[in-house]
Amino acid sequence: MSETMLLVRGADVFDPAPVGRQDLLLAGGRIVAMAPRLSPGAGLPVRILEAGGRIAVPGLVDSLVHISGGGGEGGFGTRTPALSSTQALASGVTTFIGALGTDDVTRSHADLLACCRALAAHGLTGYALTGSYRVPVRTLTGSVRDDLVLVPDIIGVGEIAIADHRGSQPSADELARIASDARVGGMLSGKAGTVLVHVGDAREGLALLHEVSDRHPVPATQWHPTHINRHGDLLAQAAAWVARGGSVDITTSTSAELLEAGEVAAAQALAQLLDAGLPVSRISLSSDGQASLPDFDAQGRLRGMEVADVGSLLRSLVEAVIRHGLPLAAALPAVTSTPADIWGLRRKGRLAVGADADLLLLAPGTLALEAVVASGQLRWGG
Ligand code: ZN
Repeated sequence: MSETMLLVRGADVFDPAPVGRQDLLLAGGRIVAMAPRLSPGAGLPVRILEAGGRIAVPGLVDSLVHISGGGGEGGFGTRTPALSSTQALASGVTTFIGALGTDDVTRSHADLLACCRALAAHGLTGYALTGSYRVPVRTLTGSVRDDLVLVPDIIGVGEIAIADHRGSQPSADELARIASDARVGGMLSGKAGTVLVHVGDAREGLALLHEVSDRHPVPATQWHPTHINRHGDLLAQAAAWVARGGSVDITTSTSAELLEAGEVAAAQALAQLLDAGLPVSRISLSSDGQASLPDFDAQGRLRGMEVADVGSLLRSLVEAVIRHGLPLAAALPAVTSTPADIWGLRRKGRLAVGADADLLLLAPGTLALEAVVASGQLRWGG
């Protein structure tokens, strides 16, 4: 990697809390200094990026992207493609958590890891989850615990499907065993070992997670249920789960059919949960990028399909601020520091000395994406 230092000058910084006008010096892929005025010494190989009062936020952390492609739920003709580097760089996401989905037969963890490395070649960061929708869990090495301990890029498990006709209808005992394995694997490897749970549209919603918590000593923090905005009833269950110590994830990609069927748009769902007094430290947004957005009829027959867009993460943040009137500082943690904390990514999701040098420059007012800096270098825009 080119080791030229980058000085981002005169940015209105949200770290994600607002900290005012700052210069940021980036070197070796990290933020090495942040202060209202920095002047690097003469002769140092420093490139200047004039922020000119634009807003600097941490590069977004996306808890769920099918980076190696997904879908296939309507047969082979409905498989979705892998995330391209062009899409990735233009999305504002700099940390991607990749997962398999329904198809763990023709899709593999080896391919998922290759896609993580491909993102790294462009200065972006990719992590992988072991497992898929299926229980017993498909893994790379033969066990959840071994995958977490032995493979650096594997940071958790998921998406394990509950309340969905495409899942394995696991019991509370089976789920508890998966979470315990993830927990111990995480403890041994210094990772969070979080289990991402795909919650389908069956009315039972989060009931199975409550049952696990009632019957087993697995902390609610071990789970991160996603697609919580799938319908109003499920969204209403979020408060009880968060009260129990859990966290929830809102999906930003959607389609006209899904909204018509009762899905709550991500920006609106975030505003609703924050208005209800839920802390943003327990609410994340993710794009579910490259997933298929299948449209099933009442009998579970596939009617049509679209490909989910990773760019929907930033668009939903902007919508939450501009359309729903949330202060940027109130909404921003849901796509930066909160997912970083939930997944145990200590150097992601914050702008601070020692953090990874991943940041975005946004236009004041519109919050339009103007520049993406990842691993300390300007990768998109300017
Ligand atoms: Zn899912």
